[in-house]
Amino acid sequence: MENINLTHNLLTKIYNELNRDIFNNELPKIPIVLSRAFKKSAGVYIHVVNKNSRKVIPRNITISLHINHTLNSIVTLLAHEMIHLKDSLVNPDYCDPKYDPHGSFFQTESERIKSGFNINIEKIFKMNNGATLKGTINMVLFSIRGKKHMISCSDGYVVKIASELLDKFPNVLDEIYVVKVPKSDAESYTREFRSIKSAYPADDIWDLYCDNPKYDRTNLTNLIER
Ligand SMILES: [Zn+2]
Repeated sequence: MENINLTHNLLTKIYNELNRDIFNNELPKIPIVLSRAFKKSAGVYIHVVNKNSRKVIPRNITISLHINHTLNSIVTLLAHEMIHLKDSLVNPDYCDPKYDPHGSFFQTESERIKSGFNINIEKIFKMNNGATLKGTINMVLFSIRGKKHMISCSDGYVVKIASELLDKFPNVLDEIYVVKVPKSDAESYTREFRSIKSAYPADDIWDLYCDNPKYDRTNLTNLIER
């Protein structure tokens, strides 16, 4: 199949058609963004956690330009991200660190879409550079009193950090984003990290991993308030 020239209009049109035909128009109209920043992930569903209700608010679906898009691949890719979007709206535990976004909900939806609409949903897409995806980079991007912070962390910390921020800074937290990006190896991690860093110029950048002894409940406050 021939490569196609992706435009925002085309993506929006396909999104709307998939929403109507496959998702019964139940998904909100969210922006579909084309990006050169994501070099290892074909598509990413980006959402925000509302600081009061703690509900997931869909932000956008970002599609990487580092993939040879055909009409078929873009339909498959958008449908894949739209399953995540639907999942985040119907399953309250979607943001739970133990929740597998490609688990039973994803598989049931994939089966439904395959049998009903003959669209094969893949978990992983082939990038132009042939990179394979292993694991996830999690980023919590947030702003407090106008100062931007970025935390990269392992799966187990995403919700912990987000809830802690929502608890401790209910009045001064301007925004909070949770970004999950598949990663392949150390080198691509560094590149991906730099891309996100340039897209979200934070004043403070921290790495927090489960085995990092620096992390405890007071640490977060100290780091922010210093
Ligand atoms: Zn996925």
